[in-house]
Amino acid sequence: ETPTRALFMLFGGVGDLALRKLYPAIFNLYKKGSLDNDHFALIGLSRKSLTDEEFRAKIMDSIASEADSQEQAQTFASHFYWKSHDVTNKDHYSDLKELADQLEQKYETEGNRVFYVSMAPRFFGMVAQSLHDQDVLSTNGGFNRLVIEKPFGRDYESAKELNDALTSAFHENQIYRIDHYLGKETTEAIPVLRFGNPLLESVWNHEYIKDVQITLAEKLGVEDRAGYYDTAGALRDMIQNHTLQIVSYLAMDQPNSFVDTEIRREKVKALQSMEVYDAEGVKQNFVRGQYGSGPDSVPYREEPGVPSDSNNDTYAAGKIVFNNHRWGDTPFYIRSGKKLADKQGRIDIEFKKPLVDIFAKGTKQPQELQGNVLSFYIDPKIGITLTVNTKDSEQGMHTETIDLGYLQSDQRAAKVPLPYERLFHDILTGDGTYFASWPEVAAAWKFVDPVQKLWDSEPGDFPNYESGSMGPKAADELLARDGNQWYWPD
Ligand code: NAD
Repeated sequence: ETPTRALFMLFGGVGDLALRKLYPAIFNLYKKGSLDNDHFALIGLSRKSLTDEEFRAKIMDSIASEADSQEQAQTFASHFYWKSHDVTNKDHYSDLKELADQLEQKYETEGNRVFYVSMAPRFFGMVAQSLHDQDVLSTNGGFNRLVIEKPFGRDYESAKELNDALTSAFHENQIYRIDHYLGKETTEAIPVLRFGNPLLESVWNHEYIKDVQITLAEKLGVEDRAGYYDTAGALRDMIQNHTLQIVSYLAMDQPNSFVDTEIRREKVKALQSMEVYDAEGVKQNFVRGQYGSGPDSVPYREEPGVPSDSNNDTYAAGKIVFNNHRWGDTPFYIRSGKKLADKQGRIDIEFKKPLVDIFAKGTKQPQELQGNVLSFYIDPKIGITLTVNTKDSEQGMHTETIDLGYLQSDQRAAKVPLPYERLFHDILTGDGTYFASWPEVAAAWKFVDPVQKLWDSEPGDFPNYESGSMGPKAADELLARDGNQWYWPD
């Protein structure tokens, strides 16, 4: 791999996300040689006035646990520059352009510029347009790439407005919408597991798959993020983006080749074939929840910063039906919530049982064959398991179900590259495979909007699940109606 030369401009340069995740990610790419160690620089920006030395001290703190030595950290940090910058002030962009041009010469970054907007979403569009209008984009033959944090809008309309603002300044293929779930080891493995194994892909359809379940369960509550979370909720915060993106990699048809343009085409097709519900459909196919009290924990409505009559969803579950040939009547069940029994992101694919169970009769103790279940563990446990029916070791013909597993040890799981590192790597190489394109985001909002609209129009019967449980009863009934049940936890 040829190391990439680049000049970064990071808006929100000493914000929480930047210090906790972004600098350690860039540092790891530096250590591993994906980023050219001599030919890069970063300009940190926000309204704060800091000296370069003060900024570099913060960088060294931020990467302390990743650095092999103090010298290494120091050398890395010497490429960082601070600029006090108010994104709402047009004049500040000409100073920025001047500094960018200087650093580009000094570090010979060949006109490659990465603009990362790690700020409140209301600034995303404005920053993009000002960068364009005030000529901060490079014209020297390198690349200009714009990285946008989440959330991307709060419904289709606002997302479209944001996207129009972004695309008036950058081309779609220059825009990288961050969804950190797509930078996780297991999510990135889905296309390989599917299209690299005829054993799986040949049965990846409604004829053999009974249902697909996607769970993004959190153990924590709202913590100190009520200000944001109470205006968003589980449906916007977890379902519209992360969950539906995972759905798209699971449901898509095989791309012609493994390049982002081809993959995006197939993801969009899959998302656009989801049945969009009317109000009645929403009532039947979606369930919302809000946590009440539990052992040692207070109800959501008593959390700091949450209004005592909040109608916000801390849990959302739903059933997706695809109007396409591959999926037919096979449902995808999705759910995500806070204050659940355990923290785990996972996908459980339940295969149908054999049409005829020839072992059920004539054995001493008939034991029904189970449908195979393929599980992908996303986070914090990482790996894959597959249940298969076999014969137990007793005399006579008794079947039993065993688990073939490839689960990473906690030690190894703790060492896999973090999502932001993988995603930064892809930004440097210009690979949009694990980013959401606009038509995908649009399709996801169009699916989610009617649900949100109905939920906003009438108060929920909250609280309706206990902290530390697996969510509201209605979410179990959603599956029971189809003769199914959540596979996890047992
Ligand atoms: P933050 O509030 O810590 O940082 C934002 C920065 O923007 C601050 O440093 C602030 O000084 C600066 N800023 C505000 N107004 C400005 C102005 N007019 N001009 C210049 N600078 C200004 O926020 P954060 O937690 O780092 O989040 C940044 C983005 O990342 C948000 O879009 C958020 O939704 C997203 N995000 C954050 C996390 C996280 O763990 N923190 C996780 C996922 C997504």
